[in-house]
Amino acid sequence: MKIDLRSDTFTQPTNAMRDIMRNAQVGDDVFGEDPSINELEAKVAGLLGTEAALFCPTATMCNQIAMKVNTKPMDEIICDRLAHIYNYEVGGFAFLSGCSIRTIETERGLLQPEDIQKNINPDDVHKPVSRLVCLENTCNKGGGSIYPLEQIQAISRMCRENNLALHLDGSRLFNAWVMNRDPLHTYGQLFQTITICLSKGLGCPAGAVLAGTKELIKEARRVRKVLGGGMRQAGIIAAAGVYALDHHIELLLEDNRRAAQIGRILDQQNYVVHCMPVESNIIIFRLDDSFSAEEFVQYLAAKDIHAFAIGNNSVRFVTHLDISEPMMPVIESALLGFETQ
Ligand SMILES: *Cc1c(COP(=O)(O)O)cnc(C)c1O
Repeated sequence: MKIDLRSDTFTQPTNAMRDIMRNAQVGDDVFGEDPSINELEAKVAGLLGTEAALFCPTATMCNQIAMKVNTKPMDEIICDRLAHIYNYEVGGFAFLSGCSIRTIETERGLLQPEDIQKNINPDDVHKPVSRLVCLENTCNKGGGSIYPLEQIQAISRMCRENNLALHLDGSRLFNAWVMNRDPLHTYGQLFQTITICLSKGLGCPAGAVLAGTKELIKEARRVRKVLGGGMRQAGIIAAAGVYALDHHIELLLEDNRRAAQIGRILDQQNYVVHCMPVESNIIIFRLDDSFSAEEFVQYLAAKDIHAFAIGNNSVRFVTHLDISEPMMPVIESALLGFETQ
């Protein structure tokens, strides 16, 4: 039994999803004629309470487009040091948007309005203009940490008062939503733009959606085109997204529950010195200095359990659609057996 805890991107589309894809109505989306894409965009805009939405190949492209449409060259973007846009998107903010970035140091990737306010540049000829704040919910490198709604609302208010745009990298937003049931339809009022990813916990083979105002999404469509992201009969993928939004969101609760269970097991192991609080489907933990992450990962791989070492002593597990209940005792006994191997 192969157990792949490397990432929630390793899911296989289910048979039901493949059937939906095979039968999807499609058309040329560059001309706005793909009914499945139009349905997906309308559905996401409805869910998040935005005027419009745009289907994209990846969440990375959504974030890059969002940074582009919310800024001008020479502007500055503010985000957490742990943010995906800063760590894992090849410095695209500089390459594609001509912006600098200001990162803020936190424990778990969740910014406070005061942190942001302190990092807004003064109106000074030497300084780039602070223009955009990017939040990430859940925060991947924060161990799947979740923003409280009140904190998002306070940040949104502060941004409005300071003439800053606010973007949400909500690649795993629904992993947070199943825990807090925040009124997602109010998010459109809190953010200029919102990214959601379909190919993480939702289990689609590809795809992401950027939501925002009509005006920003119109411009986003043009930026998507210049990035080479104007796809034709991509409704075959979007149909999987519609299906996932209807059928896979509630299942994220199970992913989160299993992650919490794994977290509790790890907390009891002597070889684990610290496990970040498990709030959603990501588990990040540090091993005792006498063990390297690499040897731990190899020990698991020999049992066909796969994980990523992140740094010398830290390991990450991610639960998802293809981690099922019968795998849980297998994972548990592997974790219990590490020290006595
Ligand atoms: C995975 C991820 C992305 C990028 O998603 P892709 O669809 O793989 O490009 C962006 N932000 C966060 C927080 C992610 O975890």
